Order: sequence, then C-alpha cells, then structure tokens
Amino acid sequence: MNTRQISKILHDNDFVHESGTPEELKVAEYIMARCEEMGVTPHLEGFEVDMADVTFSKLTADGVDIPCEGFRLCGSGEVEAPFLYMPSTDPDSIAKAKGKIVLLDSGLTHFVFQDLYAAGVAGIITYTGNVFWRDNDIDHKELRGYVSLGKKKLAVNINAKSAAKLVRMNPKTVKISVKQDEFKGESHNVVAEIPGESDEFIVLSAHYDTTYLSHGSYDNLTGSIGLLGIMDELRNKKHHYGLRFVWCGSEERGLLGSKAYAAAHEEELKEKCVLNVNIDMIGSLMGKLMAIGSAEDAVVSYLKYLAAEVGVVLEARAGVGSTDSTSFADKGVPAVTFGRMAPQNQATIHVRYDTIKVLSMDNILADLKFIAEFTRRMADAARCPVSRKIPDTIKKQLDEYLNRVRKD
Ligand SMILES: [Zn+2]
Repeated sequence: MNTRQISKILHDNDFVHESGTPEELKVAEYIMARCEEMGVTPHLEGFEVDMADVTFSKLTADGVDIPCEGFRLCGSGEVEAPFLYMPSTDPDSIAKAKGKIVLLDSGLTHFVFQDLYAAGVAGIITYTGNVFWRDNDIDHKELRGYVSLGKKKLAVNINAKSAAKLVRMNPKTVKISVKQDEFKGESHNVVAEIPGESDEFIVLSAHYDTTYLSHGSYDNLTGSIGLLGIMDELRNKKHHYGLRFVWCGSEERGLLGSKAYAAAHEEELKEKCVLNVNIDMIGSLMGKLMAIGSAEDAVVSYLKYLAAEVGVVLEARAGVGSTDSTSFADKGVPAVTFGRMAPQNQATIHVRYDTIKVLSMDNILADLKFIAEFTRRMADAARCPVSRKIPDTIKKQLDEYLNRVRKD
C-alpha cells in the first residue's frame, strides 16, 4: 500500500456512514472489494441493532425555542418541568433531580441514567459541540440499550452555545417534546482471513462506522486502512498463526460490532485466538502514537523495546481503551490497541471537523507499518509469547468500562 492508495480510500469514503444505514453498508462493501483485490475472500456477518427515526424534536425554555435533537430510542411524548443545571452527578445532585428536567455536563452513561431514573428525573438535556466554534451543529445522541436497560425517559441534545444560554437564562420551566419511530435494523462486520500453519489465529480489528456529524476520516477510516495495509504487508507469506481481519460496524454506539462478533465466536476465541490487535485512529498530522495493552505488562514492555529497536516513538501502557479491543479482552483474549492521539485542537472526532485535512498520508503509512511489524513478529512466533491470562487490574477496568461495577 502507498500514500496514493491511502488517499484514494479516504476520498472514496468521504461521507457520513453511521451504524445501521445504507452508507455504513456501502463502506463495508468497499472494504470487501479491497480484500478481493488482494486475493483474500471476505464475508459479511450481520447483527441486529436498535434504530430510530426522530421525526420531531422541540425544546422550549420559558416559552423560548432552543434548537435541539431528540435522543434516539428515548421514547416519544412531551414533558414540562422545572429546570436544573447539574454540573455534577454526585448523590446530592442526583437527589435534587426529582421532578426536574436536568442539563448535564456529562454524557448519558449507564450509572448516570440509572441514578437519574431512580431519583425520578422528568427529562434530560445534554450538549455537544463547543462554545467557541462557529457552527451550530447538534449531534444525534441515543439512549443506548445497555444504558437504559429498557427504561425510557425523554431526552434532547443541544449545542454547547445553547447550553450556556440556558444556564444564563435559568428558566423556571422547560418543555421537551420528541416523536420517533423505533425499529430494528442491521449492521455488519466484515471478516477476512489469511490462514496460518496453525489453526490458532490473531484477530486484527478496526471499526469503520461513524457518528452522525462525522465523515470519520481520522475516526476510523485510518484504522480501517491500517488493517488493509497490514493485510497487504503480510499476505504473501504463510505465517505460523492465522490472521483474521474484522472490520467492525457500530463501534460508535458502544462497541456493538465487536461485542456481537465476540459473542458469536466466543468458544472459538477462547480456544484458538492468541491475540487481538486493534487500531482506532492513526495517521493524524500531529500527536503521538500510543499503544494500550489489555494484557500482561510484558507486552507493554515488549512494545516499548520494539519501538526503540525500529526507531518509532511510541507511548505504551497497560489499560482498557474505549474501543473494540475491549470486547475481545473481555472474552479473555489479550488485546493491544494502537492509535495516534492528536491534540484536541488539532484533530477532533465525532464532529464535522474529522476530515482528511487533519491527516498525514505519510503518518498513516508509517503507523500501519509499525503495527504490521508487531503483528508479523507475533504471527511468526514459534509460540505467541503474550500470556492468555488477563491480569486482575485489567479485569477490574473491564468491569468498570462495561458498567458491571461502579468506578471507585
Ligand atoms: Zn473510533
């Protein structure tokens, strides 16, 4: 793969491709065509996702209209209640939410939603964007299944500038109206395999879906290109371990594609998968390459040594990333995720500014070559040296990330 090919893939897929949409499927098919060109036959694995068409959203504060977008999957209806700005979600603040429509600084995460629901909150307002940006974009948020556990509460998302306006107004009452059709849709993982000498294998993963406002050039066409580039680097030789490439759909909605894949292939992953190598966002013009190992510390040390050996600057640590490697680690597969983390005022994600402009084709190529080198060494190992045992510190972080326990 060369920089011209990388640039072409980015331009060919320069559009919003959200979970469960025809555009997402179009990118999946595009990736499949690139695999075919390399002589590796891919297939699609579909999985069900909750979908919603929001047909009406309205937020008024003391009768003044505030532009908003209703949360997908939060139900339909209308509610009017006193307003409360909630900068914290500590127990005292939660207790005051009873009967109020609250404005949160944070996202609507599992425990925040469940606590607000139990406290008897009337409705929820979140915001995205930035008070200093010129746009008035409003992202489409959703009440995710693993957040709501089937409970419904009306919620809207607004722009950060409107949030500031609301707090300044401090209205007596606010009113939320949302109408939507909720239905089941389908999203897809693209899977392609290069068999090894052994029937054990390494899973390489990267998500290819975007959020509502983003073309996803950086997050995560770069990672999807990374997987294609690694396939190209490693396809001409038989390796000890097989290489299974999984381009995941619906990551942006809570790792849904990798969760579906890991659930559908649980036994096989436990018995035969020695390692997961995940890529989420590489090749930004600025920022540093990072690796997070959801595995024993030795793999982190190994990555640091390898980077020094081949002359790459890499920051490596143990932990759990907010990305698809987590779904594999949770099934007991040691996992490493790679990403080049740009400073937030150089490249920002989930917004209209995630475009080709923030990227460097040379950096994408350099990053994927380093990840390919690590993968090649693991794939050619007489025995994959990474222990299959996930350390307890990582298991605890997985429990927290996946909302099985509260964070301390
Ligand atoms: Zn991502």
